[in-house]
Amino acid sequence: MTPLGKEQLITQFAAYAPHVDTAILGKAYDFSVRAHADQERASGEVYFVHCQSVATSLVEWKMDLPTICAGLLHDTLEDTPVTQEIMRAEFGEEITRLVLGVTKLERLEYSSRDDVQAENWRKMLLATAQDIRVIVIKLADRLHNMRTLGYLPEEKRQRIAHETIALYAPLAHRLGMFQLKSQLEDLAFKHLWPKEFADLETKVNAMLAAREATLKEFKESLERALADSEFTHRILSRTKSLYSIYGKMQRQNKPFEEIQDGLGVRIITDTISNCYALLGIVHTQFKPVAGSFTDYISIPKMNLYQSLHTTVMGPGGELVEIQIRTDEMHRTAEYGIAAHWRYKTAEHAKDAHLEEKLNWLRQWIEWLQDLKSPREFLDSLKTDLELNQVFVFTPAGEVKPLPAGATPLDFAFAVHTDIGYSCVGAQVNNKMVRLDYQLKSGDICKIITKRGSLPKKDWLMFVKTARARSKIRHYLREKGIVA
Ligand code: MN
Repeated sequence: MTPLGKEQLITQFAAYAPHVDTAILGKAYDFSVRAHADQERASGEVYFVHCQSVATSLVEWKMDLPTICAGLLHDTLEDTPVTQEIMRAEFGEEITRLVLGVTKLERLEYSSRDDVQAENWRKMLLATAQDIRVIVIKLADRLHNMRTLGYLPEEKRQRIAHETIALYAPLAHRLGMFQLKSQLEDLAFKHLWPKEFADLETKVNAMLAAREATLKEFKESLERALADSEFTHRILSRTKSLYSIYGKMQRQNKPFEEIQDGLGVRIITDTISNCYALLGIVHTQFKPVAGSFTDYISIPKMNLYQSLHTTVMGPGGELVEIQIRTDEMHRTAEYGIAAHWRYKTAEHAKDAHLEEKLNWLRQWIEWLQDLKSPREFLDSLKTDLELNQVFVFTPAGEVKPLPAGATPLDFAFAVHTDIGYSCVGAQVNNKMVRLDYQLKSGDICKIITKRGSLPKKDWLMFVKTARARSKIRHYLREKGIVA
């Protein structure tokens, strides 16, 4: 990716936001060039290339004007003599607040590096709770830092790659930014395990070459099957990131050769009803693998993801995973919450579903703020960012998505704080279970409450979600039971 120059940034921005005055974008560009004039990156490039690259990603994700300006200016407060006052006078309150959100805390009095890291994360998430664009800028910043990581000393490189894989990539995933998540993971993978990375890359490329013919043949027969229908559609191929394949090898403890990794294609159409209609045609023409169908349209994932998934048998007996989704779902699947700020034209009405998820995100960040010790904060952040989730139902049929390993207590707090507080037991699928039972997808969980019953300190030993943990802590602190 080549970073865009001033005129290119303005042109590309104007292409998706035609009626916005771009004068301030040019001004932010020139201001940042001057502010960083004497600085260099570890790569030997002029420092401004970094700011330019961050702004280029933000334009690529079609973010709004204040976010792109803040992207250009994001390091000026931390690394140059520019002050908040100057920035406020030149660029106003909104852009200044965004830049402050991504600026690291000064003079941390914490002793360990973990504590420093936790406090910086806490600060950034606090700013994010007020304005979610902060995290989008931070992710663009991290993407460029990862792309230029090779120029840093080994120890620093390992630390940054590690933080990227443990926190930033899962966060991108949680925000539904799949493309970015895979990019961050593969960049980190390359630095953390260079030998394994190179090895896998060679094998995957060889396999792709061998499979290309099969995939082409399948796509042609799929195209023939869909050609007679009146439903608008286009078929796309999918590629898996190296790190996701590596993760599968680790989880299944198998070498690459033994990993069952089917071919995959996507069908994109215009409406939800067409998704189901196309699924019908696919299942009529190709035999579906029993139990492989998942409907993430009626039950979306926590990170906004929506699609129909099914695995079918191709003409030559090969298994192919098919994802069917609308254009809108496809955009959200690639850009996640960044899709929210796209300048809406008449054809893309406001997405109520996205609003709801954004509220959920704000809430979650607020619960995290309640966790006082840096260690506990980082641990909860990591657990809640876990990619795996389970869907658990209330007896009334309402679904609650929870991280894998969540317990009936986490479920109780997800339903309502008072239900969590007065919980004395739980039934899963009509059987009594312990409160530390690990819920599975599809479980129907009924919480038994007793009026006047109160939270126990040992609950903290096994709850998984930040919400349950922060609510229990809050209560215990008020009663003076924990500090
Ligand atoms: Mn930066």
